[in-house]
Amino acid sequence: MTARRRTAALHNLGCKVNAYETESMQQQLEEAGYTIVPFAPGADVYLVNTCTVTNIADRKSRQMLHRAKKMNPSAIVVAVGCYVQAAMEKTGLAVEADIIIGNNQKSRLVEILDEFWESRRAAAEEEQRSRTLVTQSSTHSQYEEMKLSRTSEHTRAYIKVQDGCSQYCTYCLIPFARGKARSRRSADVVREVRDLARTGIQEIVLTGIHLSSYGKDLEGGEDLLRLIRETAATEGIERVRLGSLEPGIITEEFVRGISGIKEFCPHFHLSLQSGSDTVLRRMNRRYTSSEFEERCRLLRAFFDDPALTTDVITGFPGETEEEFEQTRGFLEKIRFYETHVFKYSKREGTAAARMSGQLTEKVKSERSDVLLAMNEVNRKAYEERLAKRPAEILLEEEKTIGGEKYMIGHTREYIRAAMPVSSDETTASLRGRILKGRISYPGPDEETLIFTADIRD
Ligand code: SF4
Repeated sequence: MTARRRTAALHNLGCKVNAYETESMQQQLEEAGYTIVPFAPGADVYLVNTCTVTNIADRKSRQMLHRAKKMNPSAIVVAVGCYVQAAMEKTGLAVEADIIIGNNQKSRLVEILDEFWESRRAAAEEEQRSRTLVTQSSTHSQYEEMKLSRTSEHTRAYIKVQDGCSQYCTYCLIPFARGKARSRRSADVVREVRDLARTGIQEIVLTGIHLSSYGKDLEGGEDLLRLIRETAATEGIERVRLGSLEPGIITEEFVRGISGIKEFCPHFHLSLQSGSDTVLRRMNRRYTSSEFEERCRLLRAFFDDPALTTDVITGFPGETEEEFEQTRGFLEKIRFYETHVFKYSKREGTAAARMSGQLTEKVKSERSDVLLAMNEVNRKAYEERLAKRPAEILLEEEKTIGGEKYMIGHTREYIRAAMPVSSDETTASLRGRILKGRISYPGPDEETLIFTADIRD
């Protein structure tokens, strides 16, 4: 069988960085002559880009690898990414796959597969040992260059510009799985953005594992602000937004800089994790709640009611009622547009896993429910405020909801909205258009508001 006739099925788990890498690996396979097929029985190669952010992510990673092997026992199953890296380094867990590719080896996928096809007849066990390409993540000092020249989305592209993390929050395995923080050169990023803009992409989301440390390992004055400016200045790019940020990046100089970039979208995901200073210290989060509050104030001073979103962990080891109450009170004070609530997940190999005072699932869930209820109230309040002022939408895809045809898009604040399409309009002519108008209630479904354009033509 020649590589041209081979089929490959990919499954992604986890964050936007993983999604970017999966798309990039898909592109490598397509360029090498593979046909991409759904993750269903019959493929020659199954690739699972795994995730280790929680115990549930670990379990899903194992399940998908197992499912792949069952779908075609003679297929090559390739396990990639954070779960396998951490499993090999930290827990020594067996990974059910023919080829195991840790982080920093993903750009060699086709080469590794070619070698595997060549030596397929060798003993299976010997094969797995020799093809386990998990290098110690602590030795990952270079940014592994991967790129996309097209994307499955029509209007928006997530671009990975940074990998790894050197923060060592006490609950997190990512620094073990991805190695220390390293950045991609802005010239390489801009080249990729230019290629994507030529395919019709208008919105770029710059992402990384620890985006806030972007540029710290690069010489020549490269930093996140400069990267945003260069991305925004690329012909065809109308919008730039950022992935998750740590509060330390939000300085007056940074916020003043981004507020002067017209393409920059006022949507900030700032990871809080806890509103209690004692819990933050145990988490090794390197900021206090009042420092975090000050960063939110700065953003609100330079942007008119930006969308602030965050992550919070409930039931961190030793979290007392009083500490939880501090978090609840902090969230009430800041009023995020959205709070993603995670119940603490004990990750073997981390410092937090060894802490005393591990809480029960019941306590974690009760506290999570309290914050989720508050999130609903805050989200609605923010959307109501937005509905009172002009909005701008980038139209992305057609969707039929309740028998009605809509074009779905996002506002600059990343609010999902739907614009009804009349019978004489073609959705192809609407896709990629940026329109000004207003959002209103109720939307066609729970997650979507209605958008009404001021002028359509
Ligand atoms: S900043 Fe903390 S939570 Fe985020 S990836 Fe790094 S260690 Fe993990």
